[in-house]
Amino acid sequence: MSENFKRGGLLYEGKGKKVFQVLGHENKVLLLFKDDLTAHQGRKTGSFPKKGEVCKNISSLIFKYLKKEDISTHFIQDINSQEMLCLKTEIIPLEVVIRNQLAGSTANRLGIKEGTEIKKTLLEFYYKKDELDDPFVSEGQIESLKLIPDFNWLEPIKKQAFLINKKLQFFFEKAGLKLIDFKMEFGLFKDKLVLADDISPDSCRIWENQTEERLDKDRFRRDWGKVEESYKKIESLLYQQWGHFLKNNS
Ligand code: UDP
Repeated sequence: MSENFKRGGLLYEGKGKKVFQVLGHENKVLLLFKDDLTAHQGRKTGSFPKKGEVCKNISSLIFKYLKKEDISTHFIQDINSQEMLCLKTEIIPLEVVIRNQLAGSTANRLGIKEGTEIKKTLLEFYYKKDELDDPFVSEGQIESLKLIPDFNWLEPIKKQAFLINKKLQFFFEKAGLKLIDFKMEFGLFKDKLVLADDISPDSCRIWENQTEERLDKDRFRRDWGKVEESYKKIESLLYQQWGHFLKNNS
């Protein structure tokens, strides 16, 4: 019989999620996916019904797939339609962005057309600091300015980020989708590096393979409409292809 995990205090509230301590389990947290959508550092807000559920479902499916592929993540199990149980990690304050095709901030900053093919997969770091709007940082800055507690984790993070990208490119490709770019966060659990946070259409760019129709948060950021429809389309295509993981994993 599955254990009853009860919410303790709120540890953190972000733009798309709340993180609660689990009562009586020092090493576990509950992630609650909110229906809110935000963009442009919180200056634009919106929501749609069950958005939290859609993002939780996508994220949970991704974690289950990665587990099968021997990637360590903080995911433990689903709790209900909007919540998942995860390990409580010590978050490394970096947003790790992988780009397979150029879009968004880097395309804008360098004046290069979105969708441009990238010769070699790009990995970028952004320093997690809300009050600074998470600025881009170089590896040199991370090391010299001691932006993370232990610089020795940087190489394993890079290696793991590229590996996760390979797995996820395949995962989306099989469902008729293209993973253009995405953001990851890593944490330490008992001195082991694990993928943390979540991966959902809020933190990825996902285009339909055949039509190049954009299905991710850019629809909201850029007022293109059909946000709910697009998120649900990603969910449905992924379930059609990978739904069997849900039957075999809690
Ligand atoms: N991203 C994210 N959170 C952030 C910034 C970026 O999840 O705070 C994701 C974003 O959805 C995209 C990728 O990281 O999939 C690259 O984002 P980019 O640097 O292009 O920034 P944007 O212009 O999207 O803010």
